[in-house]
Amino acid sequence: MTEPSDFAEAAAALIGPKYVRTDPAETEPFRKDWRGRYAGEALAVVFPGTPDEVAAMLRLCAERGLPVVPQGGNTGLVGGAIPSKDGRAVLINVSRMDRIRETDIANNSVTVEAGCILANLREHADRHDRLFPMLLGSVGSCEVGGLVSTNAGGTGVLRYGNMRDLVLGLEVVLPDGRIWNGLRGLRKDNSGYDLKQLFIGAEGTLGIVTAAVLKLFPKPLVSATAMVSLGSVEKAVSLLELMQNRIGNRIEAFELVSKSQLEIVERHMPALRSPMPLAEPFYALVEIADNAADWNPEEAFAAALEAALEQELIGDAVVATDIAKAERIWALRHNISESNKQEGFTISNDTSVPISQLPAYVERVTEALKREVRDATICHAGHMGDGNLHVIAILSRATYRTPEECEAGAAIVNAIVHEEAVKLNGSISAEHGIGLMHVGRLKKYKPPLDIELMQRLRAAFDPTGMMNPGKIV
Ligand code: FAD
Repeated sequence: MTEPSDFAEAAAALIGPKYVRTDPAETEPFRKDWRGRYAGEALAVVFPGTPDEVAAMLRLCAERGLPVVPQGGNTGLVGGAIPSKDGRAVLINVSRMDRIRETDIANNSVTVEAGCILANLREHADRHDRLFPMLLGSVGSCEVGGLVSTNAGGTGVLRYGNMRDLVLGLEVVLPDGRIWNGLRGLRKDNSGYDLKQLFIGAEGTLGIVTAAVLKLFPKPLVSATAMVSLGSVEKAVSLLELMQNRIGNRIEAFELVSKSQLEIVERHMPALRSPMPLAEPFYALVEIADNAADWNPEEAFAAALEAALEQELIGDAVVATDIAKAERIWALRHNISESNKQEGFTISNDTSVPISQLPAYVERVTEALKREVRDATICHAGHMGDGNLHVIAILSRATYRTPEECEAGAAIVNAIVHEEAVKLNGSISAEHGIGLMHVGRLKKYKPPLDIELMQRLRAAFDPTGMMNPGKIV
């Protein structure tokens, strides 16, 4: 068995002693997840600074038969970046590789290293009068390699797509230490299999992403955000259709949040207040934008919302025309995870169904959860424009006191939420991935041939099974 000190010595000779940690107190933040749901042990946490150093670490781990867990900002919500409890794994954290290598304005693309934090990338794009449209609550901590490896979504998917749609090229270190250079900024390339797509959403099971070429977009010059109250999810779906008919692809985000969820945000974030009384069961947060300076988003909103009022789709509506007001509305959405953490034991699911099935899904799931799970607050929040809803059950700490009681409650919630999604032709994981959380469920809900193809693909890249073992399949 490899001792931590043996490994640390060999790793330090390759990347420098400063970048190899074995002391459990120092490695702890990297061994547990953001929500505090998963914690593991590690032989060492290493911080390579270049693709060659990543390759050297992978070769060293392969020689010694050690499992490897790739990690970026460690904001993942399914335990994908957390090692198992046996203490054999080497955690390879790519955060030091955070350079922006090249910005090609004419090609509307940027080449960026895996450890670059999303907020820094967005600021860089902004300084070049461009937009990198990926936006999620973890924007200040999540990194490009993690975003690629989870095929992250967020609030801009409706207009710009998820990470898969934003990646033009990748650089990946394979498990055997070879560096695959797919860093091309092409929008068209039909020369054989599109290999980069395999690594997107692979959750660190096929290799370690070290850099990516990503799409940039013209920066929106005019925008407005509205918050509207809705009597039902059915009305929300009709409102989305109405907006799309009138405003087309200028809709940047269309998010749905339940009243129960907004009340929790207000309770734990005293600085945040809904701009309207919380009187209806659902609220939509809608952002529209364009890069044509002469387009008037307030007028577009006014006309669309008037039509929605006439059709009795909406109750109240507030349109924020300046950035500060819009940010206050979006803060309600982006502080959901943090508020729920304080409210109780949170079971947040990440399912998707066809948008047309959302009303039936919410109704069935809410009824079943209320019936089957005692002392739980049921909330809904999510990217409605993509059919992706987070069904959230928050268990009261007074009733669910032990980890076992919480896990038993979570099992009931998850079974209901997933069964109903699959019945409606949906997915058990729309954007967070499989990680540790859903490993068993994937087998249950995916057809056997899907599982077999995934296993064969994985074995082709990683015949010894050293990459992120125990995750996905
Ligand atoms: P990590 O958590 O470090 O890793 C995630 C997975 O990717 C792991 O399996 C890991 O092994 C692998 N990995 C990481 N880096 C690499 C690499 N360089 N090469 C190969 N594999 C790698 N997600 C959404 O999709 N949409 C949301 O709206 C959203 N909102 C969130 C809000 C909050 C408040 C939080 C805390 C999280 C949210 N997330 C959301 C989840 C999370 O931020 C994303 O999954 C993000 O993409 C993870 O990036 P990371 O750098 O933190 O990756």
